[in-house]
Amino acid sequence: MSVRIKRRSFIKIAGMAAAGAGVATGIGGKILEAAVRNTTGSDKIKSVATFCELCFWKCGMIAKVQNGRIIKLEGNPKHPLSNGMLCPRGNGATGLTYDPDRIKTPLMRVNKRGGDEFREASWDEALDYITENMLNIKEKHGPDCLALFNHGYGASFIKHLLKAYGTHNVAAPSYAQCRGPREVGFELTFGEGIGSPERTDIANTRMLVLIGSHLGENMHNTQVQEFAEAIGNGAKIVVVDPRYSTAAGKADWYLPIKPGTDLALLLAWIHVIINEELYDKEYINNYAYGFEQLKAHVQDYSPEQAWIITGIKPELIRATAREMGHQKPAVLVHPGRHVTWYGDDTQRTRAIAILSALLGSWGRKGGYFYGSSVDVPKVHSPKYPKPTRTRADLQLKDYPLASSTLASGLCEATFAAPQAACDLKGWFIYGTNLIWSLPKPEQTIAALQKLEFVAVSEVLPAEIAGWADVILPDATFLERYDDLHMPTWRDPFISLRQPVIEPMYDSRPPWWVAKQLAKRLSLDEYFPWDTIEDYFHKRLDPIGVDWEKLKKDGVAVYPDEPLYFKDGVIPEFGTDTGKIELYSTSLASYGHDPLPKWTDHGNPPEGYYRLLFGRQPHHTFGRTTNNRVLNRVKDENEIWVNRHVAAEWGLMHGKEVILKNQDGVVSTPVKVKVTERIRNDCVFIAHGFGHTARGLSNKKGASDSFLVTRYKTDPIMGGTGMNVNFVTFVV
Ligand code: SF4
Repeated sequence: MSVRIKRRSFIKIAGMAAAGAGVATGIGGKILEAAVRNTTGSDKIKSVATFCELCFWKCGMIAKVQNGRIIKLEGNPKHPLSNGMLCPRGNGATGLTYDPDRIKTPLMRVNKRGGDEFREASWDEALDYITENMLNIKEKHGPDCLALFNHGYGASFIKHLLKAYGTHNVAAPSYAQCRGPREVGFELTFGEGIGSPERTDIANTRMLVLIGSHLGENMHNTQVQEFAEAIGNGAKIVVVDPRYSTAAGKADWYLPIKPGTDLALLLAWIHVIINEELYDKEYINNYAYGFEQLKAHVQDYSPEQAWIITGIKPELIRATAREMGHQKPAVLVHPGRHVTWYGDDTQRTRAIAILSALLGSWGRKGGYFYGSSVDVPKVHSPKYPKPTRTRADLQLKDYPLASSTLASGLCEATFAAPQAACDLKGWFIYGTNLIWSLPKPEQTIAALQKLEFVAVSEVLPAEIAGWADVILPDATFLERYDDLHMPTWRDPFISLRQPVIEPMYDSRPPWWVAKQLAKRLSLDEYFPWDTIEDYFHKRLDPIGVDWEKLKKDGVAVYPDEPLYFKDGVIPEFGTDTGKIELYSTSLASYGHDPLPKWTDHGNPPEGYYRLLFGRQPHHTFGRTTNNRVLNRVKDENEIWVNRHVAAEWGLMHGKEVILKNQDGVVSTPVKVKVTERIRNDCVFIAHGFGHTARGLSNKKGASDSFLVTRYKTDPIMGGTGMNVNFVTFVV
């Protein structure tokens, strides 16, 4: 059998072959030991290919290893997501592996939960303890009373274990706290989401519209490379942001919008594009549903009305809309990534999707491309047990349009779940600092105190680890195998993560932990392989992937086409009507607004400023802010304050200040960045700093997470809008 490509099914041409043009060479021979396992003691520099996990983008990287130590990390030139380059964080990933603060052995709690006192334990003791608690919960309450919170690719085997155990309460905060509304907004409009990596054709765009998306600070390697390419090609750039971001510095138009009013601007753009007949008529006639309803709906959203709401002048709204109409269909209105802001985020993203449809940019060059992925068969194992109760996150309120489990919903369900589900009794937490990744940290802590059992698997002793009963020292991504990565992309590919060095200290990879626990829980049949290499062979050999070559190259790419709709081809959309739904029949049937409406998110109280947070290029999460390599460049965050506001409060650039939010919660001291690059009704802070965990060395700066004590829930999919908090200065 050869490699099968899972192509997006937008083509209805009879007889068109489904398989990709490229196929792998013959079946790999005998299993090679990982070259890196023999690196210790060798002066020779070895190159080992793997993929990065300093963020979720998963760029291919080459590690240079000498004497068992990683001396350099480079981008893998064969890997489609890195193209030979890493972002600054990826280059500094050794700072995670060689972090002296790492959790070095399994640890068991010795005092009350949250007391942050632990003793060293053996792996056997830690795994036996977890097994005993998992069996107890299963027997006393049922397996679905245990939840898994996870983040990152390392979680794959742990997820498999927990599902085999019998729980479907498995959630990643990256859905309800990050990109979920975007996925649902696009699913409702085009019948499918954006996915990760995003299918944005930035390299080929003639006009890039960034609305609240600060590419360059939000450092997704491939996107930033393509952004540079687009600028080099003369693409027009529009940046809409209350803050003059790095991307704004490259913009032809910078629109300093009032926070919380993006939807009014998007609707005004749609108004102009429809009323001036700048939309792609043929595309809309052929593929779209609900144009007349949309046209009638946006008559109330003129640029003049939007000006009052957004602060953006009507002539600027018209000029940018007209340029979009002129450049269509190669216009990319970027969908963003972290889009949980005000609680109406699915509707805001729907407006982006609708605008993209009017411009004809979905499935068109320079807009959103259609990717494909490699269909690698799974290792055969029994079906997961059928859950007997409904998912715990759906108990307090039902979100039928949510396409993933809601992490915040699981947290809430820990306090009380109505009869149809289980109020959770145990949390297994892999790779996510829940105290920071969920809003309302005091609620997360209260839930943790209520549980019978908490297990945490982490590389670093982040805040969440202090709340565990048992802590497992996770191997870093440079020390382990994880599952194969086959995302949907332009040219589909299989990417391999493999250990570059042996796991340090007494850390272990998650596949090993999952297999060990499976054995103890009598779930071996779900892990029908002896070694992890055996697992890969079971998946890759049947489709003829050359294992030795994959290990050497780190990636196998299978060129495929087409990426865009073709003339004479009828696209197929997975919506209820089979068309692009400008008017959402699904939203209407659930009693939601079928067309997006602007809602007022209010103003900051007197003396307060809206708290905005985001990234800066050298760090991703709280995990990277302890990285000594990255910290040589940036080891703390600052609070961006407009210079007039700073003058009013007597704040000096570079001096520390304490922030206080609307609920009286105060931050740790943080330096002030006095700037004209931000509006005077908001402040901005980079996420991930201000640690309080005892075991972490870098505690500089302030944490936005502790100040997010309120959120607004998206009524469509349960996302938690977190830009609804305000801060003032304690002077
Ligand atoms: S974008 Fe940077 S941190 Fe993220 S995976 Fe790529 S190289 Fe690593």
